[in-house]
Amino acid sequence: MNPKIEKLIKMFARLPRVGNRAATRIVLSLLTDKTGRASALATTLAEVSSVIHPCQNCGILTDGDLCEFCRDASRENGSLCIVRDVSDVFTFEKSSVFHGRYHVIGGVLSGVTGTTPDDLNIKNLPQRITDENITEIIFALPNTIEGKTTANYIMATLDDIENITFTELASGVPLGGELDYLDDGTLTLAFGGRKKL
Ligand SMILES: [Zn+2]
Repeated sequence: MNPKIEKLIKMFARLPRVGNRAATRIVLSLLTDKTGRASALATTLAEVSSVIHPCQNCGILTDGDLCEFCRDASRENGSLCIVRDVSDVFTFEKSSVFHGRYHVIGGVLSGVTGTTPDDLNIKNLPQRITDENITEIIFALPNTIEGKTTANYIMATLDDIENITFTELASGVPLGGELDYLDDGTLTLAFGGRKKL
């Protein structure tokens, strides 16, 4: 294989859930396409990635100061769903199971990956709780020791805030970038069956 093509395949294969076989198919399809898809993709990717950044309020990706979720006055204040990844928000939105606000923390506490509280997007949570009249925080974090530790840590940092309920989605739901495998029914059950912490 030409080393340049091989390099490209390796880059694609590192993307989430794209193995070597799919990466090879994608790259060969792009390189043999006569309609300019490869350069259109490269240009658009460069353009979009240069202007997209996390929303300063919630961490969802946006090209403005605030994302469309934070700007949307029709979304319910009162409940805030804490997720690890932006991809979890997309999954919830596809199923229309939740109409409140989101907060993407960007990771979970872990000795293995060296993720500490400083790495998490949680500093403005007290401010959000006040500004958006949050009365329920729903943890939709990975169902792992790290996910639980992270939820416990966040609860402890918000300990002095009154009139707030902490809940978690019904167990058995794989979270943290894995949600897109779930069907709407499972997600509805997970939200409906959420437990108080
Ligand atoms: Zn936002």
